[in-house]
Amino acid sequence: MMETSRGKPILEHQGYIYIINKKSNNNKIIWCCRNYRHNQCRGRLHTIDDQVVLTVGEHNHEPSHLPGEVIASRTKMNDAAKQTGQSTHDIVADCVSRLSDHAISTLPNLQHVKRTVQRIRRRHQNPLSLPVNRDSLVIDTQYIKTARGRTFLQFDSGPIDQRILIFSTKKQLKMLKNANYIYLDGTLSSIKSLFCYCCIQVLT
Ligand SMILES: [Zn+2]
Repeated sequence: MMETSRGKPILEHQGYIYIINKKSNNNKIIWCCRNYRHNQCRGRLHTIDDQVVLTVGEHNHEPSHLPGEVIASRTKMNDAAKQTGQSTHDIVADCVSRLSDHAISTLPNLQHVKRTVQRIRRRHQNPLSLPVNRDSLVIDTQYIKTARGRTFLQFDSGPIDQRILIFSTKKQLKMLKNANYIYLDGTLSSIKSLFCYCCIQVLT
């Protein structure tokens, strides 16, 4: 059995990918096509003890040509992200190096694969709890520097109630300094009420 990047079981059968629709007590599972929700595909199948016993309905689309080895390697990357301390780069490089050329040609670009691995790791570790007030907020070191080790937290007014934090790289500040126009945006309604967030974008 394989897993989606969100850790849900998936089943590949004759080029179609299925997700669990219903489970019953006697190890029987009813699977529906992964396209069920978005494209109303009616393709289904039943398994008992992981063996396909019945296929029902017809798919309204062609089978996916995503090779099973790609799905299996995703599962492997997910597991490595959750269970090992390997770097994202090593996890992806290790899995991709074992794939056939055909399988590699079906992958999204590697940056995308790496971001997925990072997201899974973050979700799994969930190391930080949400702050309850501004003055006791401790900023984890992983947010103070960029992935390349450069300063990202440029300004911190310190643990006071009217706290101001400025996140930027030096390069971005330079661009800001030289910009002719500066646009501001804030996502005030969608973030936690503890902070207001302002994004500065520079168009030169
Ligand atoms: Zn289908």
